[in-house]
Amino acid sequence: MTDRTEELFREDSYLKTCEATVVAVNERGGVVLDRTVFYPTGGGQPGDRGVLTKADGREVRIGTTLYADGDIVHVPEEGQDLPAPGETVSCAIDWDTRHKHMRMHTAMHLVCALVPCGVTGGQVGAEKSRLDFDVGDHTLDKEALTEQLNALVDADHPVGARWVDDAELDANPDLVRTMSVAPPRGKGRVRLMQVGEDVDLQPCGGTHVARTGEIGRLRVGKIENKGARNRRVNIHLEG
Ligand SMILES: [Zn+2]
Repeated sequence: MTDRTEELFREDSYLKTCEATVVAVNERGGVVLDRTVFYPTGGGQPGDRGVLTKADGREVRIGTTLYADGDIVHVPEEGQDLPAPGETVSCAIDWDTRHKHMRMHTAMHLVCALVPCGVTGGQVGAEKSRLDFDVGDHTLDKEALTEQLNALVDADHPVGARWVDDAELDANPDLVRTMSVAPPRGKGRVRLMQVGEDVDLQPCGGTHVARTGEIGRLRVGKIENKGARNRRVNIHLEG
């Protein structure tokens, strides 16, 4: 939600490219566009890498994307020839990495759905992701969890977003109770991600695949002790 940038990735996470106009270049060389397909670091998901191609064909390689000072900022790699405000650029994200992030991020929702404990942290990566839980006296079995995860993948559940406002949340306490993470209030509208009929429902602004089958095989790696009550669950994509 920024004033200056239309967030194309929010409505369609499969968009790989777009045309955009440079709105500003900050003092650190970060590029702000009027619209973008680049996802900025947030919700445990890394910002996108990719390329902005200028009208003359020269490329500006973007190393990451993040929120700064209320803007989505495309951070160029070292030594790039920066575009100027008003210039038109063609934007293209590093799709291979982003698609892995989408698969992994959606897998994190499945882990949330299967582990009946509060989430205390998490990080999505292209090769490995992790989710931390306050497990109390609940025990986690990595073989069983791997099997349950792959069963949800095989079921090929649809994954979709819907928006609700505060009034709808207030009017539907049952809806809020079914969510694995409590929704923020006072923002006007909240984006909910739903997996299947009743697999997982929670507020989320990240990018996801359209069906759980697209995630592919998953494997639960180490389950690490992070204190008396906390466990870190590591997840890997198997190919
Ligand atoms: Zn999500």
